Amino acid sequence: MNANDNADSIFEYCCKADEAERQFEIFAPLLSWAMLAALEPKFAELFTAAPLADAGRRDEYFCGQHYWHNKLKPQMLPLVGPSRPDFHPVLGTSAAYDLAYDTLQGALPPCRQPCPWCDAE
Ligand SMILES: [Zn+2]
Repeated sequence: MNANDNADSIFEYCCKADEAERQFEIFAPLLSWAMLAALEPKFAELFTAAPLADAGRRDEYFCGQHYWHNKLKPQMLPLVGPSRPDFHPVLGTSAAYDLAYDTLQGALPPCRQPCPWCDAE
């Protein structure tokens, strides 16, 4: 592979991703968590584990937001949306990213009160 081949394949990837994003806007309202979970088996694992994030912990505090940003979201990023490394016409879209984000974040247990991070303001 020479530099031109590489440039062509990057260009082709970007066009494919743009076109998929345009086409997918039409279908975004029909997108469901069940569809995402069927396309990416790791979602089921994350979704099942999320409500147990605070189970059996001996830490003084548990913060759902802190856990989301530091533990769960980093595991989601390679699976869905623009940071997914391979091209996927559904999982690569921002609609899929938004749905996965809301679903997984929503599955986390609430902060243990008082939460030093959420109550800081
Ligand atoms: Zn909190």
